[in-house]
Amino acid sequence: MPYTAAPLPHNEAQRLAALKRFEVLDTESEQCYDDMTTIAAAICDVPTSVISLIDEHRQWFKSRHGLEATQTPRDQAFCAHAILRPDEVMVVPDSTRDKRFAGNPLVTGGPGIRFYAGAPLLTAEGAAIGTICVLDQKPRELTPMQRSGLAALSRRVVEQLELRQLVSRLELQSMSDGLTGIWNRRAFDRRLREEWSRHGRHHQPLGLLMFDVDKFKSFNDTFGHPQGDQALKQVASTAQASLRDTDFLARYGGEEFAVLLPNLGNDGAQKAAERLRAAVERADWPARAVTVSVGVAALVPEGDFSGNTLVARADQALYEAKHAGRNRTMRFVDWPVHA
Ligand code: GH3
Ligand code: MG
Ligand code: MG
Repeated sequence: MPYTAAPLPHNEAQRLAALKRFEVLDTESEQCYDDMTTIAAAICDVPTSVISLIDEHRQWFKSRHGLEATQTPRDQAFCAHAILRPDEVMVVPDSTRDKRFAGNPLVTGGPGIRFYAGAPLLTAEGAAIGTICVLDQKPRELTPMQRSGLAALSRRVVEQLELRQLVSRLELQSMSDGLTGIWNRRAFDRRLREEWSRHGRHHQPLGLLMFDVDKFKSFNDTFGHPQGDQALKQVASTAQASLRDTDFLARYGGEEFAVLLPNLGNDGAQKAAERLRAAVERADWPARAVTVSVGVAALVPEGDFSGNTLVARADQALYEAKHAGRNRTMRFVDWPVHA
C-alpha cells in the first residue's frame, strides 16, 4: 500500500537553520524533556509520546516515552506532516483509514501506529522545528482539553530549547575576552582544572606557557592606548596561529597570556613556546616591533601538586625570561635559592 511523504514547508531552509542553531540534534536525553513526554502521555492517556525534531532527511527524537527507536527516515514521519500547519495540533484518529499513512511502514510494521496527535514546536521566528506528539496502537480521539494540553506542552518545549540556547550563548560570552576574542581568565581557570584532572587520569604531561608583552607600558606611552589594544589583538591572533587546534589560549590579564598544551612535556612545551615567540617577533607590526617573553612549565599531574603549581612555575620562568633580557623563552628548572 502506498503512503505519502510530506512536502517540504515553504520556509524549509530557514526552518532547518533554526533547528541547527538550537544545537540539540544527537544530544543526550535530558530529564526536563523526558518529563514533557511523560506528561503528554499521561494527559492523553496513551502509552507513547515523543519529542520529534525534523532534520533534513530524518526525524530524531529528543525524548521517547514508550518507544525504542531513536530516529526514522523523514519520509515516514507523521510529524513532517504536522509541521506543515505550524499552529494546529494534527490528529490522525485511525492511520489505517488515512491514505497519507495507511501504507506507512510505521503503521504496517513496528511500532504499529494507529493513532497520532502532534503539536508543532513553533519557535519565536516562526519555524516549526518538530513536534511533541502522542501515539497509540489503537484508534482514538483527543478531547478538546487533551488537545490544548498537548499544545501547551509544545510551547513549554520550545521555551526550554530557547532558554538552553540562551544559557549556552551567555556562558560562551562570559568566557571570552571582549578585546581579543580569545578565552578569558575565567575560562582558563576552569579549563586548567579540567585538563589537570584529565591528564592525571591518563598519566600524561600537561604543558603551560605564560607569556607577557615586553615593554608594553612604553608602547602605550608612545603610541596611545588604542594602538596598544590593536597590538594586543595582533599578539593574540599571532599566538593562536602558531598553536595546535587542541591548545588553549587565554588572556590571563592585561598584556599577559596563558596557553595550555595538552599532552606536552617540557621539551614539547618549550618548542611550542619558541614557535610562538618567533611568530610574534616575525609578525608585521605597524607601529613598532613587538616581542613577548615566555615562561614554560610542564607536569604529569599527581597528588602533591595542583594546576596552580603549573601556573606558579610558568610564572617563575617568565620572570626569569624578563630578567635575562626579554624576547626569549625560559623553562622552569627550580625555585630560586634565597641566601
Ligand atoms: P615588561 O617587559 O617587564 O613586561 O614591561 P611592561 O611595560 O610590559 O610591564 P608593565 O607590567 O609595567 O606594563 C604593562 C602595561 O600593559 C601597562 C598597561 O597599561 C598595559 N596594558 C594592560 N592591559 C592593557 C590593555 O587592555 N590595553 C592596553 N592598550 N594596554 C594594556
Ligand atoms: Mg609586559
Ligand atoms: Mg605584565
